[in-house]
Amino acid sequence: MVVAIDGPAGTGKSSVSQMVARSAGFFHLNSGKFYRAITWKAQELQCELSDEESVLAVARNISIVLEGDAFLLDGHLRDEELHTPRVDQAVAPVSAFPSVRQEVNLRLKEIAGTRDLVVEGRDMSTVVFPDAEVKVFLDADPAERARRRYEQNGRQGDLEELEKAIRERDAIDRAKETGRLAQAPDAVYLDTTHLTLRQVCDRVVAIIYD
Ligand code: C5P
Repeated sequence: MVVAIDGPAGTGKSSVSQMVARSAGFFHLNSGKFYRAITWKAQELQCELSDEESVLAVARNISIVLEGDAFLLDGHLRDEELHTPRVDQAVAPVSAFPSVRQEVNLRLKEIAGTRDLVVEGRDMSTVVFPDAEVKVFLDADPAERARRRYEQNGRQGDLEELEKAIRERDAIDRAKETGRLAQAPDAVYLDTTHLTLRQVCDRVVAIIYD
């Protein structure tokens, strides 16, 4: 079974997906981490990030191994490195390259072939798993999403800057030419602005067992 959860940055996708996966006993897969991993590695190697061929070479060569909750890049845990403002700023254009998306999608499908999954991202229920049994689109007000990121970062940084960055990343993620972020017609839409994590999770679990 595949439970696909899509939505823009800061809507609580990761927390919700993790909690739902735990309560359903499914494997949790975060597709955004693949794009972050490729972006981070390309930056480490000082690749030209605007050159699709160079970024694709990184995407093809990077080793990504999932062991339980651990996401291992070339054998190492890099969770902190993947969530810096530097990666945040570069990840949307990197993930706009069609060949890079194709490579990530292949890897995601391979993983899905072997287990029940809660998978989160932007295009899980539209492009990668159009036959997913459960599809959910999470949304929230941009100001609330910025506030959540601010709390997540230990109240570091500037709230207004965060909201601006979220709106900019949204604009790229939603851009017509890449068309990554779109709600599947058969997805359940959940506005989480005024809901707690537990409330959102309970609703998704209810949809799974409906
Ligand atoms: O989910 P997260 O914000 O960590 O994803 C990082 C970035 O990766 C997104 O802003 C988006 O540009 C890209 N992404 C994507 N398609 C996905 C998941 C993430 O383009 N399925």
